[in-house]
Amino acid sequence: MTDQIEALKALQMALTRLGYYTGAIDGLFGPRTDAALKAVSAEGGAIRNLKPAATVPAGPMIFQGSAPYPVDEIVIHCAATHPDWMRGQPLAAKRKEIDRWHREDRGWRKIGYHHLIDRDGAILPGRAETEIGAGVEGHNRGVIHICLIGGSGSAATDPFERNFTAAQDRALRGLIDAIRAETAITRITGHNDHAAKACPGFVVRNWINRA
Ligand SMILES: [Zn+2]
Repeated sequence: MTDQIEALKALQMALTRLGYYTGAIDGLFGPRTDAALKAVSAEGGAIRNLKPAATVPAGPMIFQGSAPYPVDEIVIHCAATHPDWMRGQPLAAKRKEIDRWHREDRGWRKIGYHHLIDRDGAILPGRAETEIGAGVEGHNRGVIHICLIGGSGSAATDPFERNFTAAQDRALRGLIDAIRAETAITRITGHNDHAAKACPGFVVRNWINRA
């Protein structure tokens, strides 16, 4: 029974990463999981991501761009938004707003992040994982960028919980595990490991080691 719950959780996370599921990662097969599975089945192309990996892959298995670049790093960011920003609105609306910032203010063709994590732990894809993202100047090839909603006024050395929720902590760890199960990740870093910035508003290596 526990194995079945873990398998369903892996499936829900895979559906979440593909943008088909926004429900809880609880291992319970409800109507939302059922609907997400039917939707993804109808579009056969995304099935690759649905195999829960039994073992950690030996090498990179996700590639970006036409080169293509092997994905081996996850970089964590924050949206630098106030905790109450767009409160009560769905994550899709927040994604649309961040997408607008990146297109209008940065001149990018679309949202730069591959995944967003809301205050309640909901996860929504931005750019496809197989596209090169835009998150760190000069450091985007082979990187999956994850952005936490929140983090306004944070400092580079803050503890995670000063700026983000316990639900975000769980969702971020779950998302990282799901990505690692599919491609050999050798580095998990924060934007502040690559540039003199506060983003994401905590020390990623300390947060990882605390688990
Ligand atoms: Zn950043």
